[in-house]
Amino acid sequence: MAKQLSVLEFQAWFPDEDACIRLLLERRWPDGFLCPKCGGRDGDMLKSRAYTYECRSCGRQTSVTSGTIMHRTKLPLRVWFWAAHLMATHSNGMSARQLAGQMGIAYSSAWLLEQKLRHAMVNPNRDPLEGVVEVDQAEMPFRTNDDPDTPLKTGKIMVIGAVEVRDRTTGKAQKPKAFGAKYVDTLSGRCRLAVIPSNEAVHIHSFIQTNIARGSTLVTDGHASYPGLDGYRHDPRVVGNMAAHVPLKWIHRVFALMKRWGLGTYHGFRPEHIDAYLNEFAFRYNRRFYRHVSFETILGIAADHAPLSYWDITGRDNPRKGRAVTRRNPQKRRTVEKAGDD
Ligand SMILES: [Zn+2]
Repeated sequence: MAKQLSVLEFQAWFPDEDACIRLLLERRWPDGFLCPKCGGRDGDMLKSRAYTYECRSCGRQTSVTSGTIMHRTKLPLRVWFWAAHLMATHSNGMSARQLAGQMGIAYSSAWLLEQKLRHAMVNPNRDPLEGVVEVDQAEMPFRTNDDPDTPLKTGKIMVIGAVEVRDRTTGKAQKPKAFGAKYVDTLSGRCRLAVIPSNEAVHIHSFIQTNIARGSTLVTDGHASYPGLDGYRHDPRVVGNMAAHVPLKWIHRVFALMKRWGLGTYHGFRPEHIDAYLNEFAFRYNRRFYRHVSFETILGIAADHAPLSYWDITGRDNPRKGRAVTRRNPQKRRTVEKAGDD
């Protein structure tokens, strides 16, 4: 299994804000500063604005954090780096409560930070699952109250999941076999999870079409909602007297881990954000053999995402939205004619 950075190593790599900025600079400008406006190669770090470079030719100011989820953050970059590292490598992730304690920040800041990182864990260009794929559904309990010390008042939600079957010897995608044939000596590959409103065919088909490549072999139980999908090779296993985990071993393993994680780390998920938690779980599961790079993956992926605000995440309306904004005129630097703002 690949090596991952220990807490001490991580601390040694990123002891202060400068070290974090150096990594961001390396990612953004691997060949040195490049002005996004005029292509100039000379720039100076501003003392007056954090993490911001100013082009010597055109005066355009570019923040090292622009385009990442850290943009305009009030938290130190070290907190972001640590949180990304902990969420990527800690096998169970970390609740906002634990993170707040570890980082010495407010619970509300920790919660928002974690939600932003979870959104950054979904690569918008990710490839669909392929080959032989097990698909099944499971019921998950969720909490209807916030207090982790009171007993779980639960409802149930329906989660659908899919996981690739791989050949144990080669580690590559399992070759499809005749219908009903046993798959032995296998490993699990990548997984996907999502909440569905019900077991109806329309929801199940939509999940499959979004997450699994056409031409794949779907191994499922005998549920009536699977048949009727065009473009897939459907290999249903009628479970009958056999225990359900025998033919659908890997997806059942994924569900078992997911449930244990939800109860252990979060004392039960809350229904509002469950998709984000499922993404977090799948992100770590899919990188379990190379966790050492996931921290950078989060930062790298994060660059593809538009920054999310608190209001995007909670789905609430920003009470200040549309209201006239009173904003002081930006201070002009004396040396700069027209400063772009990034
Ligand atoms: Zn420039």
